[in-house]
Amino acid sequence: MTVLKVPSAANPGHELLQSALAQLDRAAKALNLDPGMHRFLQQSERTLIVALPVTMDAGHLEVYTGYRVQHSTGRGPGKGGIRFHPSVTLEEVQGLAMLMTFKCAVTDLPLGGAKGGVAVDPRKLSSNEVQRLTKRYTAAILPIIGPEQDIPAPDVNTDEQTMAWIVDTVTMMTGKHSPEVVTGKPVELGGSRGRTEATGRGVAFVTLEVLRRQGKEPAETRVAIQGFGNVGSVTAKSLAAAGCRIVAISDVSGGYAAPDGIDVARAIEHVRSNPARTLEGLAGVTRISNAELLAMDVDVLVPAALEGQITRDNAHEIRARIIVEGANGPVTAEADRLLADRGVLIVPDILANAGGVVVSYFEWVQSRAQFYWELEEVEKRLEIYMRRAMELVLAKATVYDCPLREAAFIVAVERVASAITKRGIFP
Ligand code: NAD
Repeated sequence: MTVLKVPSAANPGHELLQSALAQLDRAAKALNLDPGMHRFLQQSERTLIVALPVTMDAGHLEVYTGYRVQHSTGRGPGKGGIRFHPSVTLEEVQGLAMLMTFKCAVTDLPLGGAKGGVAVDPRKLSSNEVQRLTKRYTAAILPIIGPEQDIPAPDVNTDEQTMAWIVDTVTMMTGKHSPEVVTGKPVELGGSRGRTEATGRGVAFVTLEVLRRQGKEPAETRVAIQGFGNVGSVTAKSLAAAGCRIVAISDVSGGYAAPDGIDVARAIEHVRSNPARTLEGLAGVTRISNAELLAMDVDVLVPAALEGQITRDNAHEIRARIIVEGANGPVTAEADRLLADRGVLIVPDILANAGGVVVSYFEWVQSRAQFYWELEEVEKRLEIYMRRAMELVLAKATVYDCPLREAAFIVAVERVASAITKRGIFP
């Protein structure tokens, strides 16, 4: 029997949704937003919950619950990843979809916000089982996705292979080759060059911009990074290439520190060649816990793993002066206030990790045009979008005398509300 997860304070997505709503409220107040528009933006435009039967390799049937939420399509088709994780709930997907609306708006992409997920631990499934689950999920959400409706992408525990299975399912079901239905595809199937590295490169870009504005040289900057997957590892590589010292990294296997700096290229190679795909066994480093990593005396802390990592319980332990949110929602609303009171500068997720969706947008453009750009073109344009968003958010923070998170939401909410108002409420 499929048991639908009932939203409650006990589920991990609850806090994320509440944080997103609290940020929306703050921006609405600052903008003196129309109360009706405010109520509209508090809700998701469309929510689909699907039961997903999968025949397991052993022959029996398992049933998983999947979600696709479109928070807003006011500025364009919905855009947002698909997450396979046991803790996926409706509230988590709603919160992440709302963040996508505002992330696309802050970077001025002609896209709305959406998100999807399946409550499953894919590590406990075989590759064939994950393929069947992905294809069944795609078929179930097909009525509401499409290049002009809602364009999924990878997120936690999904990757370019998952996207390739989605392309295949849509192609088989519609009879039309459909690479533009998702982004984050393999390059040979119409993916964009530079998409895999885009989020981490964007995180590194905003970090270096903040350091530059504070007059701090990369060479005198010590960085700790939580999470060494797509976002964390590319951020580490890009910051190390710019001269920063990466003094600690971590993943599910724990934390690894080296006061003189970690050899990031070697760490990446270690993960690649380790059958467990973790940092476990990395040489020349001191083992620390993830909690110790978060509390390290560094200049910059980049949480790039999962949401809800810095909370009211550990906010007082944070010693970094700058936090750059590589992950979505790594700092809870309560921790955010505590850290702001202590003068910690937080570059918020909707700005800091927007590089991924910016290049996803480029991929969508390329797939629709069937004309593919060189890597240099992608990187040049990514920097233009990130720089423009960063400068606008910094300017708003000065005008409103507020933290960067609030400024980013002000920019985004203003743009989304303006698009919806100009279109006129239907009918
Ligand atoms: P990923 O699956 O590639 O990597 C996640 C990393 O976090 C892994 O190294 C994993 O071992 C580590 N991790 C998991 N639990 C941990 C824990 N308790 N403590 C420390 N490390 C832990 O995922 P990703 O694509 O790098 O995404 C990471 C975060 O960034 C997520 O919040 C995601 O939503 C967000 N994000 C990703 C992208 C993207 O383009 N991939 C874009 C925007 C935001």
